[in-house]
Amino acid sequence: AETLLTRDRPTRDHRADFPGLAGGWSYLDSAATAQKPAPVIDAIAKAYGEEYATVHRGVYARSATMTERYEAARARTARFMGADSANEIVFVRGATEGINLVAASWGAANIGAGDRIVLSALEHHSNIVPWQMLAERVGAEILVAPLTSDQRIDEDRLEEMLDERVKLVALAHVSNVLGGILDVARMAKAAHGVGAKLLIDGCQAAPRIPVDVSASGADFYVWSGHKLYGPTGIGVLYAKAPLLDDMAPYQGGGSMIETVSWESTSYAPPPQRFEAGTPHIVGAVGLHAAIDYVDAIGIEAIDRHERGLARAARDALHGINSLTLFGPDDGTGILSFAMKGVHPHDIGTILDEEQVAIRAGHHCCQPLMETLGVPATARASFGIYSTAEDVEKLVKGLSRVQRIFGS
Ligand code: PMP
Repeated sequence: AETLLTRDRPTRDHRADFPGLAGGWSYLDSAATAQKPAPVIDAIAKAYGEEYATVHRGVYARSATMTERYEAARARTARFMGADSANEIVFVRGATEGINLVAASWGAANIGAGDRIVLSALEHHSNIVPWQMLAERVGAEILVAPLTSDQRIDEDRLEEMLDERVKLVALAHVSNVLGGILDVARMAKAAHGVGAKLLIDGCQAAPRIPVDVSASGADFYVWSGHKLYGPTGIGVLYAKAPLLDDMAPYQGGGSMIETVSWESTSYAPPPQRFEAGTPHIVGAVGLHAAIDYVDAIGIEAIDRHERGLARAARDALHGINSLTLFGPDDGTGILSFAMKGVHPHDIGTILDEEQVAIRAGHHCCQPLMETLGVPATARASFGIYSTAEDVEKLVKGLSRVQRIFGS
């Protein structure tokens, strides 16, 4: 039978690729942001060094080469997530900007007074606040799908909330607090059944599980490069081509136009229409390297690895009697917990003394904390480089927390 150790072996070597993990540190905060492997750091250094130039404008060879690199990153991203065409990929700052872009452009044109937006109880603030801002502006209503008893999005109840008043369903593919995984294809079918569109916040899914936007049928899919071992400041908005074709620009400026005159200005076709100004050229190059790195290991292998670690951690943590575990048992590599009588920040501080880095707080999910009935949770999250030893150190550290607080 496959044990944690045999599952772990192929990935144990990857730790050496990450300079940020030197010195025996157990970094269990990959859901916030992932450490960067050397090939990504090298690609960034090269792009800012001997390859550096602007894109889309220069007639000189260096700029033409950089433009090719930038567009190659777009094509690579499209292939990675199963998009039909590179033109369906808009580079943005991150998932947050991607969602704000959709709300301000598609949302403002397609959601009006009396229309409904369906979210879920576990959404990140970045998939709540842009919709609240839009709803307030146009007089739309937000409905919140509840969670099941094991704290995943209740897909049955969500389907019951759908009717022709709903114009958009916006959901996290993987919860950044609970690790549960959404059935995107089912949600796409349900949303389309009432004429609504589906936006998926794939921030925690893209680095952990296979994503195929064509197969799943999501209309919009956003994620952030820095959680997939890439640079900060670069993210991805995927949208189906006919949607992007009809969408008005989000920002105006250079690079997003066809012609500009005082009388009338015309816009470039997508995706350029949505990339005003000089883009994050080096970010795109770094993202390309990150995707190559992930693909070389294989997202299926990463998926197996993280689920294995999460399962092992859950099994061990069930043995600490003062500890409450949140989320479904079969989730991916993200788990939240609370300890009786101990504030999550104190858990984090004590674990830090053992060189174990976890996250404590509301994780940008204050409404979810309310649903869970806690002010905050402690969260451990895994990455490619996480090992069985990290889990052991976590469990040992938590046993020490229990002893210190005498719970
Ligand atoms: N959605 C989820 C589920 C997330 O985990 C995060 C990052 N914590 C975001 C959205 C926002 O991503 P970013 O801050 O990179 O825009």
